[in-house]
This record gives sequence, C-alpha cells and structure tokens, in this order.
Amino acid sequence: MSEDSKPLRVVPVMVPMPAERPYSYSVPDGMAVEPGSIVRVPLGPREVSGIVWDTPTDKVDPKKLRPISHVFDCPPIDEASRRFVDWVASWTLAAPGMVARMYLRAPAAFDPEPPLEGIRWAGNEPDRMTSARQRVLELARDGMAWTRSGVARAAGVSTTVVNGLAEQGIFEEVKIPAPPVVALPDPEYATPTLSPNQRAAADELVQKVGAGFSTTLLDGVTGSGKTEVYLEAIAAAVRQGKQVLVLVPEIALTAAFLDRFHDRFGAKPAEWHSDLAPRTRERVWRQVAEGRVRVVAGARSSLFLPFQNLGLIVVDEEHDPAYKQEDRVYYSARDMAVVRGHLGKFPVVLASATPSVETQVNALQGRYSKVVLPTRFASAAMPDLRAIDMRKAPPARGGFLSPALIEEVAKTIERKEQALLFLNRRGYAPLTLCRVCGHRFQCEGCSSWLVEHRFRGKLVCHQCGHNEHRPEACPSCGTLDHLVACGPGVERIAEEIVQHFPDARTIVLSSDMGGVKRLRLEFEAVANGEADIVVGTQLVAKGHNFPNMTLVGVVDADIGLANGDPRAAERTFQLLNQVTGRAGRTGKKSLGLIQTYQPHHPVMRALVSGQAEAFYEQEIAAREREHLPPFGRLAAIVVSAATRAEAEAHARALRRVAPGSPDISVLGPAEAPLAVVAGRHRFRLLVHGERKSDIQSYLRALLAAAPKERGSIRVQVDVDPQSFL
Ligand code: ADP
Ligand code: ZN
Repeated sequence: MSEDSKPLRVVPVMVPMPAERPYSYSVPDGMAVEPGSIVRVPLGPREVSGIVWDTPTDKVDPKKLRPISHVFDCPPIDEASRRFVDWVASWTLAAPGMVARMYLRAPAAFDPEPPLEGIRWAGNEPDRMTSARQRVLELARDGMAWTRSGVARAAGVSTTVVNGLAEQGIFEEVKIPAPPVVALPDPEYATPTLSPNQRAAADELVQKVGAGFSTTLLDGVTGSGKTEVYLEAIAAAVRQGKQVLVLVPEIALTAAFLDRFHDRFGAKPAEWHSDLAPRTRERVWRQVAEGRVRVVAGARSSLFLPFQNLGLIVVDEEHDPAYKQEDRVYYSARDMAVVRGHLGKFPVVLASATPSVETQVNALQGRYSKVVLPTRFASAAMPDLRAIDMRKAPPARGGFLSPALIEEVAKTIERKEQALLFLNRRGYAPLTLCRVCGHRFQCEGCSSWLVEHRFRGKLVCHQCGHNEHRPEACPSCGTLDHLVACGPGVERIAEEIVQHFPDARTIVLSSDMGGVKRLRLEFEAVANGEADIVVGTQLVAKGHNFPNMTLVGVVDADIGLANGDPRAAERTFQLLNQVTGRAGRTGKKSLGLIQTYQPHHPVMRALVSGQAEAFYEQEIAAREREHLPPFGRLAAIVVSAATRAEAEAHARALRRVAPGSPDISVLGPAEAPLAVVAGRHRFRLLVHGERKSDIQSYLRALLAAAPKERGSIRVQVDVDPQSFL
C-alpha cells in the first residue's frame, strides 16, 4: 500500500432481499456510517435501502466493491434489533434480508420530517390596526411560534389577515419542529385504586421493570383487571424513560384499549398496524426511531419498529392465533417478543385468561414467572355457564337455535339487556348445493366450498377471495330455483333471530362487514346500548367491554373440534372462554349458553365447570405423551406447484433426501387438507423432533440436499406451525 492511499473502508449492508448474508460495500471518503445506519446502495441495476451490519462476512475483490450511495439522516437501528434480525432469521429459516426488510417498511421516514413553516411576532406593530388584526396580535404577542393557519384559526380570522400582517414585517419566519403523533404519556395522570390482589400483581410486574430480562405470565380470568395491572408496569417503564410495546391481536378493533390507555396516561399510545394511513405510518416509524413515541400499541409487525430504548413488551391475549404470521417470514410474535426481551435485557409480560399450553408449561417449569388474578374485579361475577345438549333440545326445522336459547334471548331483551350470539363463521351459509343434481359450488382455484354472503348477493371463497354472483339456476343441470344453502353463518343466524324478535335491534358483526372505522363505530354503538342482539364471529370475542351484555349464546361449540389440528381442543376452550367472558363484565348477573352435540367433551366440561386447571392438566399430559409442543418440536414443509404431480414429486424428493437422525423424524408427504389454494396444489411434510433436537439444523441440511425448485415449485418452511391446513 502506498503511503498516500488510505485503506478502503468496507462495511456489510443487509439489503431487503432474500439474501442469506449482508453484502459488502465501500464507504466513500467523508461519509460517516456506523452499524445500524440506514443507507441506500446499488444492487444490480437498481438502488435499495439497507442497514449497515456489523462485521464483513464475505471477501470481495476491493476493485469490485461498489460504494454506498447515501446515508439517511436517521437514528441507527440499535444493536439489540440487529441481533433480533439474526435470531429471527436463524429460528424461522427465513433469509436475514427478509427479516431486516420488516424494519424498512416506511422508506419515506428515513429522512427527517420537514419542519412546519411558522411565524413569530417580531415586536413590530402594523401601521393600521383593525379588530381582526388586533385579535391575531393578542395571540402572537406571547412570542411563541405559530403556523399561519393555526394563529388564524385561533383568532377566528382568515389567513389573509395573517398574511397581510406578515407583508408588513410584523412577523419573522421560523421553523416549527413537526408535531408529535401522540402526546407524551404521563404516568401520574390518573393512578388507579387497585384491589389488594391487583396491587400485589402490579407490584410484582413493576419490580421487574428495569431489572433485566424476565418473562411473566399474567394469568387472570376475563374482567379480573389484567389490563389495569399491566398499565402499572407500563407506567413504571415510562417513568424510567423507556419505550414500551403493547402487542394486541386485533389492533384495528381495540379502540376501547386506546381510550383506556388515554384515561390512565392522559395521552394515547401510538398505533401500528396495516390499516394506518401511509403518512401516519411514516410519522410513527420516525418518531419511534427518534424515541419521541414512548408507547406503541400494535399488531405483530410492531416488533420490527426501530425502537431506541425498548424497556418492556406486553403481549395481550398471548394465546391468540393471530400472533402467528404466515406470510414470507413465518414467525410467532408472542415467542419472538420473548426473544426480543432477552436480547434487549428487559421484561416481557404475557397476559391471558386462557394461556397457551406452551406458556403454561413454561410457567410450570419455572422458565416464566406467573402472576394470578383469580377473580373478577369488584362485584362482577363470572357468567353462569351451561351446555345445551342439542340432541335433547334440537332447534325447530330449518333453524339452528335451540328453544332454550331463544327463551333466554327473550328474557334478556325484556330486561333491556343485551344478548350476543356467537358463531365463528362469516356469511350466510358455508355450502350451497343443487337439490336436483347435487352440484356443489366450489372455488375454481381452491379446494374449498364457496360461502354464500347473502347481504352482498355473492358466493365467496374464504381462501383466495374469489367471488361470483349467486345464480338463479344450477350451472350444472340448469334447474331454476333449486339451490339450497347448507349450514349456518352469522347472517343466517341473524335472519333466524329477526324472525323470532322482529322488534329487537339486531346487528351482525364480522370482519367482512366494513373497514376498521366502520367496525369501531359499530362496537361503540353496541357498548352504548344501541343494539339488543348482536350476532358475531370471533371478532366480538376479543377484548371488548359491553357493559350491558348479560347473555352469550354459542351457536355451534363443536365447530373447531373436528379438524386434525393438535391444538383443536385448546383453541376451542380459549375461544369459547373468551366469548362467554363478554357477559356480565359490570356486575349484572349473566349467563353463557353453549349449544353442543358433545356435552361430555372435555372442553365443554371444563367450560361449564369452570375447572380450567383440570383441562390444562389433561392437555399438557396428552402433549407430553405424544411429544408434541412444548414437549417436542414441529416444523412443517409445504410444497406447492401449479400441478398436483409437480408438487407431489417434489415433496417426495424432499422426503428422500431427509437425513437420518436419532431424535428427528419426517412424516408425509401428504396432500394438504387445503389441497389447492389459488390454483396451487399443496403437499405437506411434517418434521417432528424431540424437545432438545436441533430442528433448524436438520431442516437446513434437508433443504441443502434438496433438488432445485424448478418451474412453479415453491417450498415454504414453517417452524412451530400453528396451522395444519
Ligand atoms: P381484563 O383485562 O382482565 O379482562 P380489565 O382490566 O379489562 O380486565 O378489567 C375489567 C373491568 O373492570 C374494566 O371495565 C376495568 O375498568 C374494571 N376494573 C378492573 N380493575 C379496576 C380497578 N382497580 N378500579 C376500577 N376499575 C377496575
Ligand atoms: Zn379460492
């Protein structure tokens, strides 16, 4: 090296592509970057944004190195977040670049928000005073910066008045920093009076804040005050100047949580979910990166926000299946939240009335601490739960509601209270067939029946979204008016209810009934008593507080038990517990009625007796016996292709190259229960290992030995699968 040539600086940059490792780039003279810096780099013919990583991993001929083109003026992605990307990638087998990509979702926010153009009184007076000018100056004389429109609105004048004053040099131009997306939460704003039980629970959580990594299960029946309690842990973190993330399974619908947070802290948390307006999204991202946003309430993707100083994660309803992402990077936000806490050395709180078996076992075995709230707050009692044996009390012909349930609905609305009928099925009917030739309406691209949505007059595929008009005549035999709807969806239950209670105000709530805004309004209306009877899907089960709701009827409790999912019983128990928990939250006597053809099923018995512990013991014992999670490890490999033959052949090829192992076995391939989705044929392999087995290394070896994915073939690995379809 000659004396005057400086050594070339080389840094790795993680680009948002399916790249297995960061690529090396040179740093031009005079450019300052550090690990975590967000930069723009050339990649092939294009430019992409990426994150400067830690140590170079590949050896590139210095002559071939390309320079970083731009460093954004943005706080760097912190060390814990970078290790998090590595960890998630290694656990899920996703490319690290694809995980890093989740941190780069708001490109417009990599540059600082431009300040607002403002004005400030310069100390002069206008040559001619009018009453309008007088009003503006009365405000402006405080010497603070205003926007022109802001001071005009405050003074009740038009902006031409302000502009007129500005022309006379009454103001100086100033820059006003972009305003915060949410105000700062004040931990002393409205401190609650907790019951002794709640106090003890809150103290235990508060103690953990600032004391390194821990995971705590906050286990309390619906309405016991879990939210109230974890808000105190959040207050403690905010007092310590930390950022907090609250993960909620259905953020778009949890307006009530935002309001409660506001009541406690005098400000709302920032929201993060896919439904945010792009501009809001960018501002939240930026202000999280700058540490200006202290508390985020968000969907699972908020784990990948650029926090600078994260000090607590709360996962509310930790058992909820919505925490599993099954798209590109297959990850469990609940499990990854714990990893994030470990890497960031801060506590994680998992809250639920019906914790997942995995979390229960972690608590039993001492990996997680457990804090319990055994009773509802104050005078509120749990609903009285009863099973309706549908074999003994069947519905009237053509109906789905047992006379016993209808009678209770009648009594409830007579008392001017609200009833909820729950059925986890959108639309009118899950299957339509022709009475003459037996033709069944199936999706062209999927192996699933088309669901009739009568309000919209459509037949809809719930897999791929395909929809078509419901014809008058059978497309197969041409017979008119002989199509029948088989089985109920919420719309059909609502129809039955209206027949029985034509004067009651009945409302259907399901996720296909409108956007987030509309649904939020509907929930508010229900909470305000503007409906007598609500017919809803699982959307209504989650976290809502309907003060006047005293009856919950489960239309078909058996629906989720039939599929081959190892978590079927657990899921059914959780969902039904949660939905019946909507009743009686404010102290009124309440009732939950569960329509079932299997009243002796362990799930129904556990629900009715309130003996959750016995149910969990059985579930845990069964999982242990069968070496299922958390006593064993599972991963799914889904092979899909344009034709069945290609998918099957490739799945078989994977099976053939599967290495032998003393503690890991491969099951399948088998055609997936959802054999075709959006025109792609699917085969599944299931990899099953002992608890301590290194399933990731095994999968890597298997995939490395696999034949190339030719043509339309795709292989998707799902570690810790939640779905078996
Ligand atoms: P969970 O999260 O366990 O379902 P919540 O925190 O939502 O329970 O509490 C249920 C209801 O009881 C809410 O309306 C809440 O405001 C009220 N509540 C719980 N604890 C208290 C308390 N200490 N003081 C006042 N209200 C409370
Ligand atoms: Zn379809």
